[in-house]
Amino acid sequence: MKTVDNINDLRQIVSEWRQQGLKIGFVPTMGNLHAGHISLVTEAHKHADKIVASIFINPMQFGANEDVDNYPRTMEADQQKLAAEGTDLLFTPTPEIIYPKGLDKQTFVEVPTVSEGYCGESRPGHFRGVSTIVCKLFNLVQPDIACFGLKDYQQVQVIETMVEDLSMPIKIIPVETIREESGLALSSRNGYLTEEELKIAPALSQNIQWLAKELKNGNDFIGLAKTAALYINNAGLKTDYIHVCNAKTLQPASEDDTDLVILAAAYCGKARLIDNLRFSLPAIY
Ligand code: AMP
Repeated sequence: MKTVDNINDLRQIVSEWRQQGLKIGFVPTMGNLHAGHISLVTEAHKHADKIVASIFINPMQFGANEDVDNYPRTMEADQQKLAAEGTDLLFTPTPEIIYPKGLDKQTFVEVPTVSEGYCGESRPGHFRGVSTIVCKLFNLVQPDIACFGLKDYQQVQVIETMVEDLSMPIKIIPVETIREESGLALSSRNGYLTEEELKIAPALSQNIQWLAKELKNGNDFIGLAKTAALYINNAGLKTDYIHVCNAKTLQPASEDDTDLVILAAAYCGKARLIDNLRFSLPAIY
């Protein structure tokens, strides 16, 4: 695996592959890689001949109260994991290369509707940062396909909407969430959890599962979601939100909706964990 930190080298290597008629797959990350990230590379191999990964801790998607400087950086271990999974090229730009004029003067991409609410509400500006960096990385790498984890369900909807709205010739491939045996979704943020917090963190996914099961017996979406929030709090976490939504529009679920997703976020100590579950209800009619 080759690692490049500048745009010229990246473009040259990718354009050589393109001239050979090879299909390019892309896996953008912020590093501190775990088995969830690596599963994106595994999936990308099924759809492309050459795999490009990126590691860039994107300052634009962090809020003023979120500590971008202390985001875990584990470059050597990350490189080894990516190389072991057959990644062909790793792009590791600095913020100065990506945002040479600084964040204030940077053109941005904002996806309406699906960026609003849930994590968009709890983290103002977050999805603007995500859509802008992904758009920029797509323009640099020009992949045929790109893999994104369903752990970040709202993010996948934001990216798919951006690609559709801006007519980008890229196929987005959503990848199932990789979990611990306890059900806890793997996340770089789990590294912030103490031993005690690690024991209670699975309450988030467990109560999402509970809610989905209850919803199959009755459709009081709001009341049951409130009960799930209480259970999550009783386990020692602090629910940020838990909502039952239409899986495609992310609007609050209505009685006619059958393709649903539960979106949830909760604080466990200092870490903010997110998780979700997509499921179907049988149509009433
Ligand atoms: P991040 O480095 O946190 O920005 O994540 C990079 C990519 O990895 C995103 O597409 C995430 O959705 C995906 N990802 C993170 N955690 C998991 C997981 N547990 N399972 C599958 N994909 C994941």
